[in-house]
Amino acid sequence: MISNPRTSRRGLVPAASAALAVALVLAGCGRREGTGAAVEKKPVTRPNILLLTVDTLRADHLSAWGNPRPTSPILDRMAAEGVRFSTARVHRPKTTASFTSIFTASYCSDHEVRKIGEPASCNLDFLAEELRELGYQTHAVVANAALAREFRFDQGFDTYIETWKVEPKTPGLDPTGARAVSDLATALVDTLSDDRPFFLWVHYVDPHEPYAPEEEFRDLYQEDAHAGAAAEVPVSKHDHRQSFGGIARKQLVDGRTDLPFYVSRYDAETRYADQEIERLLESLRRRDFYDDMLTVMTSDHGESLGEHNYWFDHGMFGFQTCLHVPLIVRFPGVLAPRVDEDPVELIHLAPTILSWAGKPLRQGGWARGKSLIPRLRGEVAAPDTITFSEAGYSRRNNWVHVAADRRFALHHLVGSFDGKRVAGREGARYALFDLESDPGETADVSDRFPDDFARLKAALDAWEAQAPLPLTLGSEECGDAREVEENTVEQLRTLGYV
Ligand SMILES: [Zn+2]
Repeated sequence: MISNPRTSRRGLVPAASAALAVALVLAGCGRREGTGAAVEKKPVTRPNILLLTVDTLRADHLSAWGNPRPTSPILDRMAAEGVRFSTARVHRPKTTASFTSIFTASYCSDHEVRKIGEPASCNLDFLAEELRELGYQTHAVVANAALAREFRFDQGFDTYIETWKVEPKTPGLDPTGARAVSDLATALVDTLSDDRPFFLWVHYVDPHEPYAPEEEFRDLYQEDAHAGAAAEVPVSKHDHRQSFGGIARKQLVDGRTDLPFYVSRYDAETRYADQEIERLLESLRRRDFYDDMLTVMTSDHGESLGEHNYWFDHGMFGFQTCLHVPLIVRFPGVLAPRVDEDPVELIHLAPTILSWAGKPLRQGGWARGKSLIPRLRGEVAAPDTITFSEAGYSRRNNWVHVAADRRFALHHLVGSFDGKRVAGREGARYALFDLESDPGETADVSDRFPDDFARLKAALDAWEAQAPLPLTLGSEECGDAREVEENTVEQLRTLGYV
């Protein structure tokens, strides 16, 4: 279902009637919010849903996750009002793969979407398709060309606004920047029909390289007290874009080679997105939606900021820098605010959302995911979860599989992966890191913790051996590949994918 952003937005039913707005306000009366107090367990019926995602957002660069820089006052407040998962991990730290896993509640070995520009099969069952079947109106505003409708990420959406295909409201504004995204998203919210519940997905891309926020944010953190130790970014003699071992000269910003400059810029991008998110939330408040609705906020992957000699990129390794993302579930009146410190995989988000939207789930599950509702409500003890992730590239047959719990991360180097790059020695096939004493994952401690090594290896062996889910065995013909539009190619080039 492809819709032209402009015509479809115009086609939506006008704003809520005053009477309904009053009813919504009354329905929200008496709520206890953000207090940490227990909430009344009222039945949930088909709530409005906001899925808010920020590309390339490392958990540890948000203030709520420990960044001393005030990069995220808006998201921090959202986290304080909801359940904040301190240890959420993505399945694969690349945009298209990660979102396919989120939307289909499955792993790459199930859905087979790994590369940017590789279309998701039309036979995959996407979250938005399920919600539409449940009677939801479904709308999206996305700013990353890797999620273009040419690659079938519009599956299930009534409206699919790709910001780089729309002229920004303000001339000269970056069409993929947070301001343009919020302009489009708030305009969409203003026209949301209230005869049916809505599912709204808004995806910001600012923290993705190149780190170039709007002018007033650029120097926000330069040379502040948290600039970090001086370090040089290695610059390659070659012209082609690179990320391992250094960056190409053409990737330099303002000719700078000092790492703190880039990290400050990355944090400034986050602050810029955070500020613009407030405008989106404000538009939802204006319509009296925000305090009754379910909000899920997360990212598709983190970013390596020079750790492991991997610069301003994500996807090659399975280190926490790229796997560990923020996850907030805010649902006033339903969920008491708290922090859940047990690890969690994002494949559980779709069944959680579907369950609240009224879909009957067999044993609480959908595809590989399980509804998190009992855990979100604090009705089950921390399950000491092991999360599973993969990284690497098929081009060189370099793969990493990672099984991680609260304290340890076990990396399995598959194919021709250079053991030296992860385990520190040639020929190594496994490396175990103690995330508690060595969060940077620098020292392989396999020998010191043989029991934990064996435990995680057994879990990883079982995960690797499981048969793929028959997700794409449907008979629907996907038809010819959609032609990729020139502006999508141009945006992919800006993001370094072409
Ligand atoms: Zn991404």
